[in-house]
Amino acid sequence: METFELKAEEKVRVRFAPSPTGPFHIGGARTGLFNYLFARKYQGTFILRIEDTDVERCKKEYEEEIIKSLKWLKIEWDEGPDVGGNFGPYRQSERKQIYLKYLKKLLEEEKAYFCFCKKEDLEAQKQYFLSIGKPPKYNGKCRYLSKEEVEKRLKEGQPFVIRFKVVPKKIVFEDLIRGKIEFDGSLIEDFVIAKNFESFLYNFTCVVDDFEMKITHVI
Ligand SMILES: [Zn+2]
Repeated sequence: METFELKAEEKVRVRFAPSPTGPFHIGGARTGLFNYLFARKYQGTFILRIEDTDVERCKKEYEEEIIKSLKWLKIEWDEGPDVGGNFGPYRQSERKQIYLKYLKKLLEEEKAYFCFCKKEDLEAQKQYFLSIGKPPKYNGKCRYLSKEEVEKRLKEGQPFVIRFKVVPKKIVFEDLIRGKIEFDGSLIEDFVIAKNFESFLYNFTCVVDDFEMKITHVI
């Protein structure tokens, strides 16, 4: 394995975070193995996290299979749902209070907002953008609703999702393998991070968990 220049003060913490939505496969084993080897090479910590937020697709038996398969491969984790650790729980379905805390914080800081758009309208909008050869991006309509309007709609019980307010600027970060990576934020739509106050999307939960679990490298 190649050696990377890591920041000296950094204690490596990596995670393998499979979703138990189907039988364990070779791609999962590969990701697990790379994380495990990386942690061991740098005397770091390897964490197993079960990303089971999708209640319809996730099954307990698949989680059991993942654990059994990793054990059979002799891939051992230092923290996880079965062995515990200081940053638990390690099953996303048991971390809802943590996600709710961050979701409320984002809403309070106006870094996320309620979107009341109907599915049909979003679909029509998407088709329109495609028809004029533009990327189908959410138009940000609900970004500009007043606080009073939002309150009113919530009181009326209108269904909503919560979107992340993407800042339309350049996003730059250093990738240990590929070097400097740049994204144009203006091309990224305000994506949905929660379907309500109880069901959160993986793109949100994953970031919250990586932050809370002090993950240093994402492989
Ligand atoms: Zn909307």
